[in-house]
Amino acid sequence: MSFPHLLEPLDLGFTQLKNRVLMGSMHTGLEEEKGGFEKLAAFYKERALGGVGLIVTGGISPNLRGRLAPNACQLSFPWQVKKHTKVTQAVHEAGGKICMQLLHAGRYGYHPFSSAPSKIKSPITPFTPSAMSARQVNGTIKDYATSAALAKKAGYDGVEVMGSEGYLINQFISSRTNKRDDKWGGEFKSRAQFPIEIVKQIRAKVGSDFIIIFRLSMLDLVDNGSTWEEVVQLAKWLEQAGVTIINTGIGWHEARVPTISTSVPRGAFAWVTERLMKEMSIPLIATNRINTPEIGEHIIASGQADMVSMARPFLADPDFVNKAAANTPELINTCIGCNQACLDHTFALKRATCLVNPRACYETEINFTPAETKKRIAVMGAGPAGMAFSIYAATRGHEVVLFEAKSEVGGQFNLARKIPGKEEFDETIRYFLNQIKMHNVELRLNTRLDASVVRDEKFDEVVMSSGVKPRAINLPGFDNPKVVDYQKVLNGEVQIGQKVALIGAGGIGFDMAHFLCESESSTLDLERWLKQWGIDKDYKQAGGLTEQVPEDKHRQVYLLQRKTTKIGKGLGKTTGWIHRTVLKQHQVETKVGVSYEKFDEQGLHISVDGNAEILDVDNVILCAGQVSNTELVDEMKATGLPVHLIGGVDVAAELDAKRAIRQGAELAIAL
Ligand code: FAD
Ligand code: NAP
Ligand code: SF4
Repeated sequence: MSFPHLLEPLDLGFTQLKNRVLMGSMHTGLEEEKGGFEKLAAFYKERALGGVGLIVTGGISPNLRGRLAPNACQLSFPWQVKKHTKVTQAVHEAGGKICMQLLHAGRYGYHPFSSAPSKIKSPITPFTPSAMSARQVNGTIKDYATSAALAKKAGYDGVEVMGSEGYLINQFISSRTNKRDDKWGGEFKSRAQFPIEIVKQIRAKVGSDFIIIFRLSMLDLVDNGSTWEEVVQLAKWLEQAGVTIINTGIGWHEARVPTISTSVPRGAFAWVTERLMKEMSIPLIATNRINTPEIGEHIIASGQADMVSMARPFLADPDFVNKAAANTPELINTCIGCNQACLDHTFALKRATCLVNPRACYETEINFTPAETKKRIAVMGAGPAGMAFSIYAATRGHEVVLFEAKSEVGGQFNLARKIPGKEEFDETIRYFLNQIKMHNVELRLNTRLDASVVRDEKFDEVVMSSGVKPRAINLPGFDNPKVVDYQKVLNGEVQIGQKVALIGAGGIGFDMAHFLCESESSTLDLERWLKQWGIDKDYKQAGGLTEQVPEDKHRQVYLLQRKTTKIGKGLGKTTGWIHRTVLKQHQVETKVGVSYEKFDEQGLHISVDGNAEILDVDNVILCAGQVSNTELVDEMKATGLPVHLIGGVDVAAELDAKRAIRQGAELAIAL
């Protein structure tokens, strides 16, 4: 067996898990949709069939005040049990096991009824919580126990008590948020009584044959978080109180350190769990940026943890574990940590899905069933849109020929993967290429598709996925070879000097600035990355933060935009702040409200708020958006065949890979 440690069963005494892989908790948005639990059942069933050892649901509140949002899911009454049984039955029929996560949001609740140990607003929510009375504290503990008992009734194999990421339990544990002067506040021992009492009361209600996972905040990454000694002490008290497994929590949501985005090194926090392994006898789970069976195997084989938790990787590929067990990890659709279709959707109150797998959370709605009429289809361009269309159409039985003008598949992903911290984009190209082979898509590299080929080879339909090209800007001096577009730079076609101005501060402008400032990616060097973000492995201060070590300044970079809005405003909700911080770390100078005048031997002439300036730069790089690559559209339509446009060639504005891949999938279903 290739991943013997990862796939080894775990004996919990009263029950056995078939392997060491936990599907971590994720809120999908289906929990609140009408008829959402049927869809949720199908979603979890596919993951159970895919071989995962244990699933944890998205957070369910034990009471009204604990809800994350006004309409969020709660389990407090017997009449709420029935819909959960749909999920548990589906998972059990598929041979899986599932725990329900109990999550009280405390001051992170996005509604006016939120409550917390003390009346202190969080920096990431607009509502100030009310301070719980002693009666409310006791009532809340009871609500946890009642909810766990109802979860057992609904058929769950256990519960996970969410004690990390800065939610209510964390708020009780930490002096940062707990200023109480009754028995639930003061010394650490008193602050820790809240989670201990919750676990004790749950155990008393559910008996001994029920899994209780406790997600323990082991590295808060905020000032006045827990000390390491407190983490160890609490873990031991929780074990005595009846916890079966301890899962790792890293960072409060308000922490200003990235913990799960793609620029976080793989397995970046396994050392935290490893520290606790030396102290405990119950199983421990490592978490955060574990996305391949190789890294999971390494963590368990090297004794850093007993299990690994992966959440988003199960959005990207429900069959992750089966593929690892079949020793075909190259067929896994790897989560690239982009957050674009999962967490960013959740924050926008939209159903979560996955950029690389548009079926995620749409299992009952998106299916690639055999086509009634098999067609021969020519596809122009093997970027994300063309590759996605090709594999899904071939899955349906169509005969697909995929033409790519360049010598490799991937389109603009071949540029994205060169950005420091975006190395994961490689995995998507690898996955799609293997799918192209598996589904017998005929791939013709170095071959430009045009109308003559379409006519000669007797195709039934044409799909144009020829993507985008950089927007050109015609200003005096912009024909100088020192003014180049982002593609030329990332393709290594030009030498760039030490002083550079970037025109355009969208996603690509930010990426380009990062590329120019970081000659070697810190994502590939864990120790350097920890220093860059001020994470102290020695926990000298409570919470594990220390001074950030500034990165060396390689270049003078100016990032410019015409709009007067905040720079980077349009970046991803959950990742934009990381990109902005990285540019600050590299001392990139940003300017908004810029008018561009000309480029000459003095540099780039601009005006800002009517004031003329000359930026003394060696190069100007155009990151000013893109236009559709439509040059062959008319000629293709003239063939008389049905012609479909997907991805960038369809609409270039606000194009991202999420739309490109999804459009490919949707067209494949429609043809
Ligand atoms: P393209 O990727 O442009 O692919 C088009 C393909 O068609 C090319 O391979 C081209 O060679 C080929 N082609 C063109 N004409 C012909 C022809 N006549 N015959 C044969 N082949 C032809 N998106 C995100 O969602 N998240 C990100 O974090 C992100 N980061 C990015 C970072 C950078 C630096 C860049 C450049 C892009 C990034 N993107 C990101 C954008 C993303 O890569 C694009 O949205 C996506 O690639 C568009 O897909 P597409 O298939 O429509 O077009
Ligand atoms: P973009 O986000 O639309 O940004 C284009 C930039 O160029 C803007 O800053 C715009 O700002 C400027 N601009 C537009 N027209 C201009 C003109 N005529 N002259 C001068 N400046 C002009 O596009 P992008 O950066 O090329 O990114 C393309 C897509 O890739 C995006 O939609 C994004 O979703 C995706 N992407 C995502 C990420 C990510 O991290 N998620 C990273 C990279 C790319 P002003 O008009 O104010 O000057
Ligand atoms: Fe992973 Fe991105 Fe998919 Fe989210 S959207 S699961 S981060 S690949």
